[in-house]
Amino acid sequence: MTGLNINNLHVNVNDKFILKGVDLSVKQGEVHALMGPNGSGKSTLAYSIMGHPNYEVTEGEILFNGTDLLELSPDERSRLGIFLAFQYPVAIPGVTLANFLRTALNSRRRANNSEDKGIPIPEFRKILKEKMDLLEVDHSFAGRYLNDGFSGGEKKRAEILQMATLEPQIAVLDETDSGLDIDALRTVAEGVNALRGPDLGVLLITHYQRILDYIQPDHVHILYNGLIVESGGPELALQLEEQGYDWIREKFQEVAA
Ligand code: ADP
Ligand code: MG
Repeated sequence: MTGLNINNLHVNVNDKFILKGVDLSVKQGEVHALMGPNGSGKSTLAYSIMGHPNYEVTEGEILFNGTDLLELSPDERSRLGIFLAFQYPVAIPGVTLANFLRTALNSRRRANNSEDKGIPIPEFRKILKEKMDLLEVDHSFAGRYLNDGFSGGEKKRAEILQMATLEPQIAVLDETDSGLDIDALRTVAEGVNALRGPDLGVLLITHYQRILDYIQPDHVHILYNGLIVESGGPELALQLEEQGYDWIREKFQEVAA
């Protein structure tokens, strides 16, 4: 099995059942939108994929190219090529974005080869420049301290630049409750569109349909009360935009706890 395969995933948080048997597969090259009302478990799924210690998997599996991710630390998952964009990235005054990215890249290289001396600076500069040009980011951005005084849109831009630099195979972007302004939404959307390609699989988590005005997903899933209750194409997102989530609540009352 290639890509990310989530089978019958049950997750508890603080002894509360949140995910109740999620099945989801994301292959490289595909963009999946995961939608659902607040509290349905979207962020729980994102954190479970990355291995956050508060999220206890009680049943089911998460495989990546056949490897059992549940056996691995978040760090090891990241080195395998899974990337999670944080909803609320932390600021690190004193560390420039460029230094942060170089450290992240070196850590990835060292994981693959313990003898690795780190990426030579000229080579790194070249990569960073390429990525910034691809994402239409001003070059001065890399010299700023990470997320220090960044606007919402700039924080998102830094996340997307990190994603571009690390070149993950699967990226999980949790945008749900952050009340992103339109500038930040477009940044994420344009970034995803620029990086989209046969090597990248994306799980784009979003409460609102509006980001999907900018990103055309291949598949759309609706998570409700810890279960994926509907899957379809982009038309499913349009239906949500027109009708909201009420029809989901009515149709799936029986899965409500
Ligand atoms: P979504 O991202 O879809 O809004 P979440 O995954 O954040 O949903 O939350 C799903 C449910 O899990 C909610 O009922 C929420 O209150 C609960 N939950 C999430 N994180 C925690 C936590 N750390 N402690 C207790 N309950 C939590
Ligand atoms: Mg959330």
